[in-house]
Amino acid sequence: MENKTSQEHVHVLIIGSGPAGYTAAIYAARANLKPVLYQGIQPGGQLTITTEVENYPGYPEGIQGPEMMVDFEKQASRMGADIRYGMATAVDFSSQPYKVEIDEEKTITADAIIIATGASAKWLGLPSEQRLNGSGVSACAVCDGFFFRGKEAAIVGAGDTAAEEALYLSKICSNVHMLVRRHEMRASKVMQDRVLKTSNIMVYWNTETLEVTGENKVDGVRILNTQTKEEKTIPVSAFFVAIGHQPNSGIFASKLEMDDQGYIKTVPGSTRTSVEGVFACGDVQDKIYRQAVTAAGSGCMAALDAERYLSAKGH
Ligand code: NDP
Repeated sequence: MENKTSQEHVHVLIIGSGPAGYTAAIYAARANLKPVLYQGIQPGGQLTITTEVENYPGYPEGIQGPEMMVDFEKQASRMGADIRYGMATAVDFSSQPYKVEIDEEKTITADAIIIATGASAKWLGLPSEQRLNGSGVSACAVCDGFFFRGKEAAIVGAGDTAAEEALYLSKICSNVHMLVRRHEMRASKVMQDRVLKTSNIMVYWNTETLEVTGENKVDGVRILNTQTKEEKTIPVSAFFVAIGHQPNSGIFASKLEMDDQGYIKTVPGSTRTSVEGVFACGDVQDKIYRQAVTAAGSGCMAALDAERYLSAKGH
């Protein structure tokens, strides 16, 4: 990483602005750690592309995802966190104080760093999928399944997430049409068995999604059987994409220990990474739960871990 002309030192630097980052900022600010938070390219993170959130405790009437993230930001600001628009573009953890480059033009050094860069859902890349996103197309069955109670739904994917979400949807929707691109599933055997034994989940093998149909909201999905070459449209009100997530950890590659999918490894029961003084919270280190409330919880843990680390260091 090059040394930039514009430099600044901060006590605690938080990278990322979803529930994890903002919660870390609230706790760090209240502990007088003077956190500076860089929001990244999508301030508010994944919740800014969902509609209603009904499973975050404390909002009895539910709340719109983007509005909730504005509330998180306001609360962090009110506690004294310095929230800035900007993207971390490179890091150097080889010596302390650690360096983080922002927008390829400024270098920040920090006594402790909290990474909360989240993950992004993978999409099929169909124009219709993008056009109807939020109008029946979703990448989170746990978030949005409820809105399709008693309706027909399709889900694409064949891993553990797709299996888990198909089972979740089968309890809410009338039927779940599960679109699997090969002749077998990648999900664990136990999950596959559960899916195959559930009477209202229909599995379509060797199936490619050609298009999600509907004018302003989803009304069907056009599919192709890649073996028989037969094309057909299944009428559905919802189309869920569950083909995996991509942790936003690219700039930390070879700087921090990660698993083979790029999730940052943390010491169990903590947010400590393989580099002392660098903590990770939220979806960038969690491929199992991935909920706003669990991300917020781990953001709190990261701030407490950072506080303990700094006080042990005498900072
Ligand atoms: P995975 O990468 O395991 O699976 C992705 C699935 O999506 C695969 O079946 C893949 O098909 C399919 N897929 C990818 N691209 C496309 C496409 N363009 N069109 C159609 N299908 C596509 O992701 P998951 O999110 O399911 O799981 C990630 C990790 O998290 C895994 O290690 C999983 O075991 C773990 N996990 C564990 C859970 C638990 O223990 N409770 C719950 C959820 C996840 P193909 O098989 O053909 O490549």
